Amino acid sequence: MKHHPVFQTTRLRLAGLYAGTMGVILTICAIGFYEAMARSHISELNHRIESVAGTLHDGLEASLQEPGKLEPIVQKFVPSLCVIGSRCTDQSTALHYLSVFQEQGYYIRFLDLSGELLATGGQNPLELPIQIETEPWQTLAASDGNRYRQLSLLLKTARQQPWGYMQVGRSLSELDGHMVWVRWILAIGLPSAMLLVIMASWWLAGQAMQPVYRSYQQMQQFTADAAHELRTPLAAIQANLEATLTPDATDTDAWDTLRTVERQTGRLSRLVQDLLILSRMDLQGLTTRSTPCQLNDLVTDLVEEFSALALASRLSLTANILVHTPVIVIGSEEQLYRLVANLITNAIQYTSADGQISVSLQREEPYGIIQVADTGIGIPSLEQPRIFDRFYRVNSDRSRHTGGSGLGLAIAQAIVQRHQGTLQVESEVGQGSRFTVKLPMKRSRD
Ligand code: ADP
Repeated sequence: MKHHPVFQTTRLRLAGLYAGTMGVILTICAIGFYEAMARSHISELNHRIESVAGTLHDGLEASLQEPGKLEPIVQKFVPSLCVIGSRCTDQSTALHYLSVFQEQGYYIRFLDLSGELLATGGQNPLELPIQIETEPWQTLAASDGNRYRQLSLLLKTARQQPWGYMQVGRSLSELDGHMVWVRWILAIGLPSAMLLVIMASWWLAGQAMQPVYRSYQQMQQFTADAAHELRTPLAAIQANLEATLTPDATDTDAWDTLRTVERQTGRLSRLVQDLLILSRMDLQGLTTRSTPCQLNDLVTDLVEEFSALALASRLSLTANILVHTPVIVIGSEEQLYRLVANLITNAIQYTSADGQISVSLQREEPYGIIQVADTGIGIPSLEQPRIFDRFYRVNSDRSRHTGGSGLGLAIAQAIVQRHQGTLQVESEVGQGSRFTVKLPMKRSRD
């Protein structure tokens, strides 16, 4: 595959597609993860700010009397409060409130209705602009670059008059620092993951191409074998014709040539027919009409049909129907006929005179079993797994002599597979062979 430009380009494209798709998915996931993380931190912070602001808001509102006036009660609620214009004694950066609570990093600001700062508490950022927005939640950026999350609440006096604003906030620098780390991790992690994805894609594309490449090789092998098989009889015909088409050729020579041409064209047409069957089956599978086929009749008919051929070779061919009920399978009668015929033809071809061939039928729920057994020359065990390959002959000279092309068992195997069955061989050299076909029988609800 490495040296085949078409496969290399396809592999590259496939790997590119994999890597591209995975890259998009990874990037979307990374952005999603980042966003989800940032949102979850902000929402947690909002919740905490809300809880501080809510506690103060509920306590303060009942005690406020005059709009824009900071009553001493406010300082009782927020001991760390620093009133604008007075000297602040509490230098602590923590926000103390309601005597018991103390929150690090928070700040509080009280503003009158015009937005004038009245007092601050906690870690108040001096660089942060004072804004009164209609939206309660704001994310503000201070002049030093730090960002703050702030909640502004309108306070009312005990008589329900607007008093001013209370702003509770917290610096986002800790969160921003954390998110910078996450960005760094993603910036390094994402390209590294992409590198791994590219390598994995290349490997996966190679794996995905393997079966395609194998079938391409098989196709090439098949074409080469078919061409070779076609060339042999054609070469024989041509050589005979050339030898006969000379001025000194006699009538006997001409007859001999005609007989050779007849024999070779017969072989050619059998070969072409076999090739057609195989390619049709490759193309359509079992799209040929499936009907219930009775194997009992099929076996007896075939044995009857081949008995003359067996007799001519001085062989005994018998049918053993070991069932008393019809064995019915769903499939193509024509193909099943060819399957058993191929096995019987082989048995006749590879059994020497006075041998015996038996074709039996039995059932082994849920299968119908046909066995073609002969007392022929047998097949060496090393060769047995290969005899079902296209154009494979155990001994090409021996097989060619019988007119075989090495496609008979390949066709039989393809037919069995199309019928969801199995084809097995047991054989011993010099003793004989037994081919067993197992076909699933028609179920009562089929
Ligand atoms: P061919 O057309 O050459 O017979 P097949 O595909 O039918 O091709 O068979 C493949 C090979 O398997 C044959 O070349 C033959 O050597 C071997 N073979 C098949 N059937 C038998 C058998 N019944 N006894 C011995 N050898 C067999």
